[in-house]
Amino acid sequence: MSIDLETLYRDLHRHPELSFQETRTAGVIAQQLSAIGLEFEEGVGRTGIVTTIRNGDGPVVWLRADTDALPVEERTGLDYASTARGVDPAGTDVPVMHACGHDMHITAMLGALERLNATKDAWSGTIVAVFQPAEEYGAGAQAMIADGVLDRYPAPDIVLGQHLTPLPAGTIGVRPGTQMAASDGLTVVLHGRGGHGSRPHSTIDPVVMAAATVMRLQTIVSREVDPRDVAVVTVGSIHAGLKNNIIPAEAKLELSLRYPDDAARDRVLEKVERIVRAEAAASGAETPPTISTDHTLPPTINDADATARLVAAFENAFGAGSVVDPGMFTGSEDVSWFARESGAPLVYWFWGGIDPQTFADAVVAGTVERDIPTNHSPFFAPVIQPTIDRGVENLVVAAREFLG
Ligand code: ZN
Ligand code: ZN
Repeated sequence: MSIDLETLYRDLHRHPELSFQETRTAGVIAQQLSAIGLEFEEGVGRTGIVTTIRNGDGPVVWLRADTDALPVEERTGLDYASTARGVDPAGTDVPVMHACGHDMHITAMLGALERLNATKDAWSGTIVAVFQPAEEYGAGAQAMIADGVLDRYPAPDIVLGQHLTPLPAGTIGVRPGTQMAASDGLTVVLHGRGGHGSRPHSTIDPVVMAAATVMRLQTIVSREVDPRDVAVVTVGSIHAGLKNNIIPAEAKLELSLRYPDDAARDRVLEKVERIVRAEAAASGAETPPTISTDHTLPPTINDADATARLVAAFENAFGAGSVVDPGMFTGSEDVSWFARESGAPLVYWFWGGIDPQTFADAVVAGTVERDIPTNHSPFFAPVIQPTIDRGVENLVVAAREFLG
């Protein structure tokens, strides 16, 4: 039998699930893998699935697709639009949408596995296909690794993955070196001494401490990072106090940091820590601030040799001009944990899902930023074809390039 990929995609799109809640999604994947005739393991890293195709001696190629959706209310108006709701980690009822295209990633992966399994006479080696949950939390890959996925399956000679992006359908975006930024999410708690709002001299005011800290943190990128380098310091959340006449005991800041590599990461983290501690000291804090890391995403670095090989394979399959260098994205991904932890090279590429004519018209009108919805937008609506077929072919071409 052959999977009806368009029906599968519409079904996944209608039924998105939040990170680490991808149970129905995992059930659909399991059903399709069974139909293809592949054995698989469910519940890897909570809601992940792993399947292998063993086909004699040869390289081990890992293919990765992520499976989770986002708390976004879909506004595409498509007849297969999501009306799903979910409960987020804070216990809040939220709308849910496949606004990042992971439903397309799953669909392409299943189509590619069916094709590769049906053409075993044309290649040799082992394919390990990883359906990874919770990419949007930056936690799914590490959950699968903590669950032993790298120990229980053949170690990769290369890790490959792809992400849908607002490029014209038919175009692939990939570059050697840093493809996506590294990221850390930090929580900073500034400890003061609470008291009556009318008697500030008897307190250590964490609100003033927090305000000074936020402003000073903004000098990292403007004054301390080389203007030729990329870095982002965002304080996305600030909380202190309950009432106007009470000086609270503490203030909490949540930071999102982005940089292209580990060296830049070390430099920025050192500056953040120095400023946070110095501002607390400047306020006379008796207890030093607490700085904790909520998540860490490494940079997504494409192996130069493997990327050159893959670009040549893509151009051979899809024609000259089908591959572009999209530059480094300041977004982040957790796919590279599989490569980092195993020591294997990684190639992670982007493929377009926008109707080429619509995209070309927007380029001519100068309205790409306004009119072409990006990932995480409530209007994100990739065209079903040729996006699905190209997603399948990308994976097949890439896997075959690195298999025997
Ligand atoms: Zn996303
Ligand atoms: Zn994504």
